[in-house]
Amino acid sequence: MKAIVVGGGVMGLATAWALAREGCDVELFEQGDLPNATGSSFDEHRLIRHPYGEHAGYARMVDDAYAAWDLLWTELGQRLYAPTGTLALSGNGALWAERSAAALAAIGRPMTEIPVAELPRRFPLLRTGGVERAFWIESGGVLFAQDIVAALARRLAGRRGVALHPRTQVREVDLDRARIGTGAGATHGADVVVVAAGAWVGRLLPSLARRLVPSRQVVAYFDLPAEQQAAWTRGPMIIEQTGDVGLYLVPPRQGRGLKVGDHAFSRTGDPDAGRTASAAEIEPLLARCRSLLEGFGEWRIERLKACFYTVTEDERFVVEKPGAAGWVMSPCSGHGFKFGALMGLELARTIVSGRDPALHARWAAGREGDT
Ligand SMILES: Cc1cc2nc3c(=O)[nH]c(=O)nc-3n(C[C@H](O)[C@H](O)[C@H](O)COP(=O)(O)OP(=O)(O)OC[C@H]3O[C@@H](n4cnc5c(N)ncnc54)[C@H](O)[C@@H]3O)c2cc1C
Repeated sequence: MKAIVVGGGVMGLATAWALAREGCDVELFEQGDLPNATGSSFDEHRLIRHPYGEHAGYARMVDDAYAAWDLLWTELGQRLYAPTGTLALSGNGALWAERSAAALAAIGRPMTEIPVAELPRRFPLLRTGGVERAFWIESGGVLFAQDIVAALARRLAGRRGVALHPRTQVREVDLDRARIGTGAGATHGADVVVVAAGAWVGRLLPSLARRLVPSRQVVAYFDLPAEQQAAWTRGPMIIEQTGDVGLYLVPPRQGRGLKVGDHAFSRTGDPDAGRTASAAEIEPLLARCRSLLEGFGEWRIERLKACFYTVTEDERFVVEKPGAAGWVMSPCSGHGFKFGALMGLELARTIVSGRDPALHARWAAGREGDT
C-alpha cells in the first residue's frame, strides 16, 4: 500500500513510522524544515501524566501511550524521556485534581492524597497558599519533544526508507482519491492520505476550520540560582488549578530547562503571524508563580516562547476519515504529544487492517470508558 502523510510534527512522523513498519511505501510532505521549529511538537519538552480530570478515556490510554513510546525507544536506540512523578494541586473551587484522583481510583491507578500541612515537608520548593487539596502519583514525566521529532525524522529518512519532502507545502488535497498538489501543477497520488497539519489544518481543509481552532500559547523558561536549580532537577511535575489560571511546571531534567505554562486556551491567532511574546502576556501566570513557588523572586525569565496548538470545543481529539481514501489526524487540544507514538501506531493499524474508521474516531476521541 502506498501512503502520503502531510505534516512532519509528532503525529505525521509517528504515523509515517508506523505505516512503514506495517510494510507501506510512505512519502511525507512538510512545509517547513524537518523538524519544523514553528510546529506544536517543537519544544524542549512535553508532559505525560495519568491524571486527566474526568476524562477517564484518556487516562486509560496513558499506559498504552507508555508502551508505544517504549517501542519507539527501541526503534531509535535511545530513551528520550525522564520520569518525574505528578503532583496535582487544587483549590478555590477548582476540582481538576479531585476529579483526576476519582477517575484514576475507578480504573485501579489510585493517587495518594497528601494533607496540605505536609506539603512543605514533602515538597519544600512549594508554597501552599491557595492550595486546598494535593494528590500525588509516581507515574508521569517529561518527553524530550524536539529531540524525539528530530530523531524520528532521521530514522525515517535512514533505515525506514520513508521519502521525506521538507520545505514542500501541500496546497490542495483530495481525500477521496488520495491525491495532493504541491503547487505549479505538481501532484502526487497514493492509496491513502493522512493529513496531520497541526494548527494549519484549517488552511488546507477549510471545512474543518471552525472545529479545529488555532490557539496561541506562551510559555516561560527560567534561570534559577544554582542551589534552586539543583533542587528542581529532583522536583516533580506540577499541575495546578487553584483559580482562574491553571499552571503547569516542567522540572529541568537531563540538561533541559525549567518551564512554566498555563492551561488557558486563547482560541485565537494565526500560526504564521509573529512569535514574539512579552512578559505582560503572561503576567497572571507570573503572579501565580510568585505565590506558589518558593524563592520565585530570584528567578529570571530566560526566554519566552509563543507556540500554537489546535483546540476543539470539548478538547477531544479528531482522527477521522472524511474521504474514501483520506484521514484527518488532529489529536491535540494542547494534550496530544504524550499520545504521539500511540496515535501513529493505531492509525497505521486501522489503515492497514481496514478496522472501522468510526470505531477508531471514537477511541481517539477518548470516549472508550469515559463518563
Ligand atoms: C505550549 C504547548 C504545551 C503543550 N504541552 C503538552 C504536554 O505537556 N503534553 C502533551 O501531551 N501535549 C502538549 N502539547 C500539545 C502537543 O504538543 C501537540 O498536541 C502535538 O505536538 C501536535 O502534533 P501535530 O503533529 O499534530 O502538530 P505539529 O507539531 O504542529 O505538526 C504539524 C506539521 O504540519 C506541517 N504542515 C501544516 N500544513 C502543511 C501543509 N499544507 N503542507 C505541508 N506541511 C504542513 C506544519 O509545518 C507542522 O510541522 C502542548 C502544545 C503546546 C503548544
